[in-house]
Amino acid sequence: MARSARTTTRRCVLCDRIVADDDYIRFTATFEALELLGRTFRTFDPDEGFDENVPCKSCNDLPDKERKKLAAKAMQRDLRRFRSEN
Ligand SMILES: [Zn+2]
Repeated sequence: MARSARTTTRRCVLCDRIVADDDYIRFTATFEALELLGRTFRTFDPDEGFDENVPCKSCNDLPDKERKKLAAKAMQRDLRRFRSEN
C-alpha cells in the first residue's frame, strides 16, 4: 500500500500547536543515538521522525522544568490518541 502523502502540517511535540515552517527546532542526533533508535524501533526513519516530531521555538526556549511538564502532558495526549485509534 502506498504511503499517505506527507502533510505540510507540523505540530509541536510539546504544546501540540501547529508550527509554521520557520518556528521550530529540528532535533539532531549523534550517529550512536541514531543506531540505537534504529535497533530499538525498527521502523523508525530518522529523516522522517526528526522532521515530523519537532518542538516549536517557544517551547524550546522554556526552562527545563517547564519543558518536562509539557513532555509529560504530551505523552498522555499521545497515549490517548493511540488508544482511540487502535
Ligand atoms: Zn510548542
